[in-house]
Amino acid sequence: MAEFDVDLFVIGGGSGGVRAARIAAGHGARVMVAEEYRMGGTCVIRGCVPKKLFVIGSHVRQELTDAAGFGWSIPSATFDWPTLIANKDKEIARLEAAYTANVEKSGARIAKARAVFEDAHTLRLSTGEKISANVVLIATGGAPNHGAAIPGLEHVISSNEAFHLEQLPRRILIQGGGYIALEFACIFAGFGSDVTVVYRGDNILRGFDEDVRSHVRSEMEKEGITILTGCTVTGVDKHGKEYTSHLSNGSSIASDQVMFAIGRHPNVANLGLEKAGVAINPSNGGIAVDHFSKTSAPNIYAIGDVTHRFNLTPVAIREGHAFADTVFGKRPVQVDHADIPTAVFSQPEVGTVGLTETQARAQFSHVDVYKTSFRPIKSTMSGRDTRVLMKLVVDGTTDRVVGCHIVGDTAAEIVQAVAIAVKMKATKADFDATLALHPTAAEELVTMRTPTARYVRDEAAE
Ligand code: NDP
Repeated sequence: MAEFDVDLFVIGGGSGGVRAARIAAGHGARVMVAEEYRMGGTCVIRGCVPKKLFVIGSHVRQELTDAAGFGWSIPSATFDWPTLIANKDKEIARLEAAYTANVEKSGARIAKARAVFEDAHTLRLSTGEKISANVVLIATGGAPNHGAAIPGLEHVISSNEAFHLEQLPRRILIQGGGYIALEFACIFAGFGSDVTVVYRGDNILRGFDEDVRSHVRSEMEKEGITILTGCTVTGVDKHGKEYTSHLSNGSSIASDQVMFAIGRHPNVANLGLEKAGVAINPSNGGIAVDHFSKTSAPNIYAIGDVTHRFNLTPVAIREGHAFADTVFGKRPVQVDHADIPTAVFSQPEVGTVGLTETQARAQFSHVDVYKTSFRPIKSTMSGRDTRVLMKLVVDGTTDRVVGCHIVGDTAAEIVQAVAIAVKMKATKADFDATLALHPTAAEELVTMRTPTARYVRDEAAE
């Protein structure tokens, strides 16, 4: 008789947990996955996928307006929020079923239950079942933060609720200046809401390239979104169906919804981690792991958002796959976290890979910057006041392209392809040797010949 009920117990049926379970089962492991809510996790159920569907839907407004310049006359269009929500829910249910089926097809068993540690090898499920496992993978993801307690915080929604609102808010105030705040600001604005973004710093998208930050801000403002910087929400009052948000600068704003998107925290609470000997990383609050995603307990691993390393679905998937290959496939794999491409699905969207100009200048003594901002061809006829930003950051010593930053339609699609070149350590000469594909926006990436700025650090002066 086997010593343990299962070889691998996975806590969390999100993208990372599911990938790990399927690959481990493929390597012959007896696997159980516990999911307390819905299979698919944040990305599928209340993150990337429904968000992207909302982005696509909300972008239609621009298409309808832009059509006039191309000769279309479209009778006044109407939008029905409940139809959007119902169709989105149908698609998410389909994906959830596909996730469930794929896990079961792999031979892993799913327990629709919350699992907590009793000790490093024992899990108690909310169904009352007790399971012993040789190896445990924690893939519980993260959840929205709401920050410090302020009066009226109970009136504030997060992105979780934004996916299920009964009606489109006529006015919405969103606090935050990162991925989720800006994506939802543009979604709601696209569907016709009056949107105000409240951000505590001096400009949105901290950590992104400075040119990206200012470009996105100006494009969002051109679309009518109000961006208030240098302030926070200090309290929210409710009067009937309306809310008043009080800001730290002394002003107040009325709206029909108030949403906070001020970061996410790893789901580490009430899992019994202390009973299992699993330590938390004090610097970020996530589960502390080594390069193989192993925690402080030798038979317990953690991947994805619960480790609070890079909170991105493809990273969790890669970490889950690497864990399964390492532990059950006899093939140690470390995930390379360098040059992860990422996108903010604002409108226009941001695609970026590699270093910002600031990071490159801190790292390299010679940095060349190639930058262009131009009117996309569509605007010449649509009349839309919009510009595309493209920027390459080059290590001037090796000629290697170390960063690529794009703001404009399809920036994410372009950067996914450019990321291959950056990962392969392509040089600017390689970009120059590549023929342009005309007429595209992306051709600018291979036609920028003269640096817009060249920085040479004076080592002697330092
Ligand atoms: P982000 O970390 O991207 O942004 C959080 C924002 O909230 C920042 O602007 C931050 O300001 C601000 N903030 C933090 N704390 C406070 C506070 N106490 N009061 C006021 N403002 C505050 O988090 P998100 O919630 O937008 O998203 C979480 C993560 O999920 C992202 O970092 C990303 O990893 C992932 N994600 C990825 C997406 C994608 O790939 N497209 C989409 C959505 C999420 P400051 O900059 O000053 O710290």
